[in-house]
Amino acid sequence: MPRHLFLDSGFLEHAYQNKAFPIGAGQTISHPYTVAFQSQLLEVMPGQRILEIGTGSGYQCAVLIKMKAQVYTIERQNELYKKTTQLFKKLFYRPRKFVFGDGYKGLPDQGPFDGIIVTCGATDIPKALLAQLKIGGRMVIPVGDDSQIMTLIIRESESKFVKSTFGEFRFVPFLDGKE
Ligand code: SAH
Repeated sequence: MPRHLFLDSGFLEHAYQNKAFPIGAGQTISHPYTVAFQSQLLEVMPGQRILEIGTGSGYQCAVLIKMKAQVYTIERQNELYKKTTQLFKKLFYRPRKFVFGDGYKGLPDQGPFDGIIVTCGATDIPKALLAQLKIGGRMVIPVGDDSQIMTLIIRESESKFVKSTFGEFRFVPFLDGKE
């Protein structure tokens, strides 16, 4: 995935280093390693419906589209929503739906999803998102305040959610509401 396309032109030399980088509105594109790590934990199969919280630059979304997922993605920052809408058009990446809104609520009218990926640091696991996960579905969410523990939740039945953890990462915060 050509990561430089998701950064403002002029930052080419930063695009292929394993680091986060500012994308505007105080947000960052994730480390390539983090995008790979989360994508792998999600175990996407072609055609699956995946909900992403935190579209940002669109990079993680584009990786999931390349993995043949049908991606539903939500961004709360209007500036990024507009910028990334233009970029998707230009690059011909087509999420199934790109919504300007609050990811805490998910997309109840579009669920349930085979997978949910949260790309911002959550202090708690939103109940609304758990409710939108299919039985057998996987949710990948970094949980914590200053730094986050990568957490995988597999929904085994209507009421049984099995959690496992995968080490420390650092994300921008998962915030309420939209701006
Ligand atoms: N997946 C992005 C990562 C961007 S950083 C990429 O590949 O570039 C995380 C993003 O989550 C930021 O753009 C931030 O605005 C967004 N975010 C934070 N809280 C959110 C919420 N409640 N709903 C939707 N997006 C949110």
